[in-house]
Amino acid sequence: MFTPCEQSIRKNPNPGNRQACGGGRDLIDQPDAQRPVDAIRLDASGWLDPVRRLQSPHCDARPPDTPPELLVIHNISLPPGEFGGPWIDHLFLGRLDPHAHAYFKGIAQLRVSAHLLVRRDGAVTQYAPLTARAWHAGASCFGGRPACNDYSIGIELEGTDQTPYADAQYGSLQTLGRCIMAAYPAITPGRIVGHADIAPGRKTDPGPAFDWARFRHELRAAPSTPDGNRSHASNP
Ligand SMILES: [Zn+2]
Repeated sequence: MFTPCEQSIRKNPNPGNRQACGGGRDLIDQPDAQRPVDAIRLDASGWLDPVRRLQSPHCDARPPDTPPELLVIHNISLPPGEFGGPWIDHLFLGRLDPHAHAYFKGIAQLRVSAHLLVRRDGAVTQYAPLTARAWHAGASCFGGRPACNDYSIGIELEGTDQTPYADAQYGSLQTLGRCIMAAYPAITPGRIVGHADIAPGRKTDPGPAFDWARFRHELRAAPSTPDGNRSHASNP
């Protein structure tokens, strides 16, 4: 069973690995990983299809009767300020080599993840099913409610607080945002926030480089057609 949220998106062309995760299914990349993707769907188990999948062990079950009601935008780059490379995957999979870079020694033992990563070229990787609790927010609070991991979905943008995000990232992010909002109606535009908003004083991402006005405008704009062109049906 699929949620009707087909959206245009670019798929990561890199092949993935088998990973175990929190009692979930063992999933691998689709064999047609090089094929351009013109739509995504959310399946009943919380995986987007077709999107590159790497199952992180850093996730577990949400508390009972706790559906996603919040979407949290982050940034990450490894090493800090450098883009590309396998290091974010390795961190979220729990296999980051502490000797591969001086910075990694201090973070290799962290047990963290996010549901989704959007690379600089707009390519998307999913590390945990949206139905599961990924470990992205840490100590956090939204509207007086603590422990945002329990009831949120986390999306990482490859980037830094100060580096303008790429057009392709905004494109994939609005595609993901629409799909997630369609699947989880409690996630309204007002319940899409930055990590800095739910962990003020502790976190700063996605930082001043993230153009919230642009993102919110694109989220409201007409859905993309399957060939990636804008629909002319409505664009207020
Ligand atoms: Zn963050």
